Amino acid sequence: MMLAVCIKCGNIKRAPISKCSVCNFIPQKDEDKAKSLILSTAYEIDGEYRGKTEEELRDVASKIANKQPFEFDDANVREVIKYAEKVLAIPTSRLIFDGLRWLLPPILVLSVIYFLLFLK
Ligand SMILES: [Zn+2]
Repeated sequence: MMLAVCIKCGNIKRAPISKCSVCNFIPQKDEDKAKSLILSTAYEIDGEYRGKTEEELRDVASKIANKQPFEFDDANVREVIKYAEKVLAIPTSRLIFDGLRWLLPPILVLSVIYFLLFLK
């Protein structure tokens, strides 16, 4: 099961970007999403697990709950944001490619019809 820590109140939740059932916090800024990912078992970059163990996460969670904020490494946060942008860019380009693949045949058919009409 996935484990994530609410970066605001230390509540344990199921997914890093889901709404916290205790403080209602939803990570929306890139930075908050990145921090939420770092404090979860979903923290993986290029298939390599970077996250903490479940025990460490629970420890961090109880510290946050006791008003001891977790000190994030700025470099890690930036790296996660960069990686997320890279990952997000892949489906977009695939979408465009798939779109072109579906659009190309009709365009070819239309140009053939156009040329046939034009030649007559
Ligand atoms: Zn919370």
